[in-house]
Formats: sequence, structure tokens, C-alpha cells
Amino acid sequence: MFKILQKSFKTGIVTATYPKTAARVSENFRGRPEFDFERWRDARPAAEVCPTGAIAVSDDGASAEVDYGLCVFCGQCAEVSRDGAVRVTREFELAATDRRDLVVSATHAKTIGRKLDENIRRVLGRSLAIRQVDAGSCNGCELEIVALNNPVHDIERFGIHFVASPRHADMLLVTGPVTRNMELALRKTYDATPDPKLVVAVGACGISGGIFGTNYATRGGVDQVIPVDVYIPGCPPRPEALLHGILLAVGRLARSGNPRRP
Ligand code: SF4
Repeated sequence: MFKILQKSFKTGIVTATYPKTAARVSENFRGRPEFDFERWRDARPAAEVCPTGAIAVSDDGASAEVDYGLCVFCGQCAEVSRDGAVRVTREFELAATDRRDLVVSATHAKTIGRKLDENIRRVLGRSLAIRQVDAGSCNGCELEIVALNNPVHDIERFGIHFVASPRHADMLLVTGPVTRNMELALRKTYDATPDPKLVVAVGACGISGGIFGTNYATRGGVDQVIPVDVYIPGCPPRPEALLHGILLAVGRLARSGNPRRP
């Protein structure tokens, strides 16, 4: 007992202060790739190497569209873009309430995100119970979600905790491309969660099917099966990105960090 206390005093407080202060991100962390559409003369090489088809390009290569909901942040587009128009940043606060907000293009057409119901935010904003649903993920997202409960990220300091039953939950945190085997289970879990409820799609797979896409075995994203309130890009999203998306969902953060935001 004495040794435990001694160690605790020696270690001090390890809990990160994010989101009050900026997150400490490793030099090597790969976040959102940034695209300078004006300088980007030919997007075809990037589109060819992109493993998830996140870059759609016109025949002459002059105009392109990038979907962050498909992006796995591999950085290959930056490597092949010799004009320096693509750069890998360390940005991770990318959660959005509208799927269309995750798509950027040369025209940057504006879309207005679906406003989360203010009543839901008022009811759930101060204390939140989350049921995590693995709808066929590789468990990469789960590893990051588990980290939310460690002493460094300590999500309980926000009054947010994970529960075992959807009947006790306010929010479903769903990972994976939604395999056909999990589709019914996801629908039933959604129906079992009492109103008002929120659904957050986690990672490239949860948003769009990611590297798996839509095929004989997967539905291609959570919103193909149940309504989604917030999308958190990443492959997998780091714990701070998850925290950002969850707090955004319950209205405890300004809608910041959106790639489309001017
Ligand atoms: S960083 Fe994203 S957009 Fe670029 S090649 Fe990788 S998956 Fe595609």
C-alpha cells in the first residue's frame, strides 16, 4: 500500500488536459492530408495510389474531390504529388455532423450540416452513457476507444462512461464497415437504445466502409443502416479525435476542426 502511494506521488497527475489545451501529438503522427487545389496541377497520380479511392479526379486530372470519410491517412497522396500541393498535417479534430462536410473539392461548395437537436444536447450534455458497438471492425478503433478510459485520457472526468447494455445508453459509438452479419444486431441495438439517443460513426470503416467499401459482406458504413449524428474520421482515430467527436456530439465543443471550414 505504501509503495502504491509512493509511486502515485512520484508519478503525479498523468491525465492530459485536452481539450482545454492543445493535444501533444507525436512528430511522426499522420493526420489529415491537406490539399492545395490551386497548386494541384494533376491529381491523377494521387488518385491512382490512394488505397481507398478517397480521391476522385476528372479525366484531365485538373479537378479533384477528396473524401475524408474514406481516407485512412496513409500519406501516399503526398508522396506522389511532386508539385507539393498535398501535405500531411498532424490535424485530427475532423469530426463532423454532416457526412458531406467530410468531402472537399476545388469548388468547396458549401453545405449546411444537419443541426443536432438542441434538446438532445441539453439532456445528454452533462452526463453521457456510451454503448460501443463493433460492427465488424479490425479492432484498431477499439484499441483507441479503450485508451479513452486510461489515466491519460480519463473520459470519466467529463461525466462520460461506457455501459454494457444499449438499454442504459444515450449514445452508440459504432465501429466497422457494418458486416452483413452484424446488420441486424446493429438495428436491434439501435432500437433497444432509449430516446433521445445519439449515434457516432467511428473511423473510415464506420463512415464509408473504408478499405472494405460496400461488398457482398459489408454494408459500407453505419449510416447505411441507422441514422448517424457525428462522423469521426481516422484509421483509427486517435483518442483525442474520439473525444473531440463525442464532445461535439453533445454540444460541449464548438463545431471546429472541420476540413471545409474556411
Ligand atoms: S492519405 Fe487519404 S487521400 Fe491520401 S492516399 Fe492515403 S487514403 Fe488516400
